[in-house]
Amino acid sequence: MTQINDNFLKLQKSYLFVTIAKKVAAFKEANPQAKIIRLGIGDVTRPLAPAVINAMHHAVDELANADTFRGYGPEHGYDFLQDAIIANDFKPRGISLEREEVFVNDGAKSDTGNIGDILGLKNSIGVTDPIYPVYIDSNVMNGRAGEFINGLWSNIIYMPCTAENNFVAQIPDKKIDIIYLCYPNNPTGTVITREQLQKWVEYALRNKSLIMYDAAYEAYIQDPDIPHSIYEIEGAKKCAIEFHSYSKTAGFTGVRCGYTIVPKELTAFNAEGDEIALNPLWERRQSTKFNGASYITQRGAEAIYSPEGKKQVKETIDYYMTNARIMRETLLQTGLTIFGGENAPYIWVKTPKEFGSWEMFDHLLNNLHLVCTPGVGFGPSGEGYVRLTTFGNREDCIEAMERLKKGL
Ligand code: PLP
Repeated sequence: MTQINDNFLKLQKSYLFVTIAKKVAAFKEANPQAKIIRLGIGDVTRPLAPAVINAMHHAVDELANADTFRGYGPEHGYDFLQDAIIANDFKPRGISLEREEVFVNDGAKSDTGNIGDILGLKNSIGVTDPIYPVYIDSNVMNGRAGEFINGLWSNIIYMPCTAENNFVAQIPDKKIDIIYLCYPNNPTGTVITREQLQKWVEYALRNKSLIMYDAAYEAYIQDPDIPHSIYEIEGAKKCAIEFHSYSKTAGFTGVRCGYTIVPKELTAFNAEGDEIALNPLWERRQSTKFNGASYITQRGAEAIYSPEGKKQVKETIDYYMTNARIMRETLLQTGLTIFGGENAPYIWVKTPKEFGSWEMFDHLLNNLHLVCTPGVGFGPSGEGYVRLTTFGNREDCIEAMERLKKGL
């Protein structure tokens, strides 16, 4: 008799985007003339940079010719992309890495979910709340999360991130084995300072904990004092894995590419208490279960680092960040309390007192025909907030703000 992994039955249905879609569909049916503007989507809208397109076209031509054809590539990425990553994303920040520490993948979602394969099931897990849901659900699948009781997983430690702590969780007063941090943060759009990150690294080193640092939005950082990588902090190579994504950096949500850094110095412990390096374990995991991102994709990713690629990608990021500026200015004029949107493509809006997250969602949809994402959908500490994204096109963004100005 074949048995399933019972943990999958524990997973909670993701009602958030289903409920939003249902509500929007019902509103559309009742109001077919209404022009709905979506400020809830977490997907980009600008096209790929021309430098990326050219590189991908060229790679396709190479595959069309027997002399330049390539089949299976190295599981953890071609040298040319690993070298470009090290030279551009790390070296200028004073971080030295070897090729074997850079694992090119098909986007950050896979690795933030899969990384748990190499870690023991008894580890305690700490997450910031609100949160990108993959961190929790992947631990539920592996059996680390415990039971779902009153909206919380019994074996997961939730670390609230609210206006009171400036959206950076307090350092825990007990030992947590694995901690997920994401900065710039989805959904709150807030960042962590070097000093705050330093405290987390010190905590992890003191407690022999592992930090999973999700830097998927680092390209949006505008403030030169905000760290782009946890490895800017001394000692972090001994306690952190870092995830990067080209999705929001360069519009790769549909192309699929990113990378994970697993430093050679990073260790954890086996059942006997011996210190074991994580890099070879992840290398073994990837070479068994992953066959690399496509050659065409990796050539496209490499082009992001060319001089024209850098310029074009920056223009796109500037476009979204100009949206963010326009939105922030209007939201502040309306008297709303807002966070984020200065170093991230998300704005976290405190709802007026009389509204919870969903009431605010309903209000914006029914009266202003605007779609946001209710903050409570990202975790209990998201109640009383909604998330707006800045990934839309400029005209929609301006019109949405006009409506808000008049309607709030
Ligand atoms: N990490 C965070 C915090 C995200 O918000 C997302 C996507 O929205 C991802 C990772 C996944 O990105 P990718 O498209 O590279 O899988």
